[in-house]
Amino acid sequence: MSHSEAAPAVPLRRAQRIARIEVSGILRIGARAAQLKREGRDVIVLGAGEPDFDTPTNVKAAAVRAIEAGETKYTQLDGTLALKSAIAAKFQRENGLEFGLDQITAGAGAKQVIHNALMATLDDGDEVIVVTPYWTSYADMIAIAGGVAVQVPGREENNFLLDPADLEAAITPRTHWLMLNSPSNPSGAAYDEARLRAIADVLLRHPHVWLLSDDIYEHLIYDGFAFKTMAQVEPRLADRTLTVNGLSKAYAMTGWRLGYGAGPRELIAAIAVVQSQSTSNPCSVTQAAAIEALNGPQDVLAERRESFRRRRDLVVDALNAIPGIRCRRPEGAFYTYANCAGVLGKTTPGGRRLETDTDFCAWLLDEHDVAVVPGTIFGLAPYFRISYASSEEQLRTAMQRIAAAVATLA
Ligand code: PLP
Repeated sequence: MSHSEAAPAVPLRRAQRIARIEVSGILRIGARAAQLKREGRDVIVLGAGEPDFDTPTNVKAAAVRAIEAGETKYTQLDGTLALKSAIAAKFQRENGLEFGLDQITAGAGAKQVIHNALMATLDDGDEVIVVTPYWTSYADMIAIAGGVAVQVPGREENNFLLDPADLEAAITPRTHWLMLNSPSNPSGAAYDEARLRAIADVLLRHPHVWLLSDDIYEHLIYDGFAFKTMAQVEPRLADRTLTVNGLSKAYAMTGWRLGYGAGPRELIAAIAVVQSQSTSNPCSVTQAAAIEALNGPQDVLAERRESFRRRRDLVVDALNAIPGIRCRRPEGAFYTYANCAGVLGKTTPGGRRLETDTDFCAWLLDEHDVAVVPGTIFGLAPYFRISYASSEEQLRTAMQRIAAAVATLA
């Protein structure tokens, strides 16, 4: 066919798998905030899921050394033996869990590990139980893998945690996984040993249900709360539990992309199949940095934890002082999840009626220069999430703006 006879281009047809998935609502709010900033507005963005700290100096130095030593080639598919050894030592030291190196996988972020696990195990229509409010990516990752996210409510009066009776009621013959995230994004709520024990008792009655324990916020935990993970609480579940963790949040390494998982050998091998035909190994230099983060001095964790705790208290106290807003004090992570039912149904001075948490958050951004994320995005309304990984000064100003904004509602 000559150039002039080329048939007209056919419009892109998206695969069914992703047809109903949009770019994350959080990213959309971030883009709108960035747009307002470009227009000269002094917007405070409390939407991001990343620490505002820098990667520790010793970790950066290890990466530089790795580059200079030529550690710049392909590595073992799911992590070098040195990295897997550091991960195994972490599990042993911090969680009392013993894993062989063939029970450990490392990928480009905890996100990749979760995605791989779902791709490796879900057939079309398989069900995955998620607890609302949940990290939005779970639902989309489940859908991409062909699964169905079954939402079970984590009620505010129940501390946003999974009630074992609700779990029991949600399990069907098609349930493949339960996904638990503690401390939680977006609620900050964490599961104590007793609650995990009660959930374990349900799972022990349903041997076809696997558990994905997302522990990425493990180190961001306050007031002496004792972090526990399921494989530790109930060893009889260990042969169907994938324990996921990573460096992004604890070590402020979001851009480096390193997460890991540990579980039964056959699952780790299946995950390797998915990773082998997508990204192959996580970045070699990042792996060297991760070894230093895990094996090196850990003092930075405690320092940053204390700073996050102060900010949490600042935000929670300020929110609870605003009429119409109520916020529980979360045990961990760097998020608050506040109830805004008391401001809904009210009208702004400009005549906007705020019907939903989405309306409330859009108004705060449009007219009061604070970007926060509506609970609707996380499957439980009417709430809004604040990420308090910002300076105390910024947080104070943002809280003043929200309080002043709410005071104008009628
Ligand atoms: N799990 C939860 C609950 C998260 O909030 C995040 C990041 O926002 C991740 C996993 C993924 O982290 P990463 O892929 O950076 O390791």
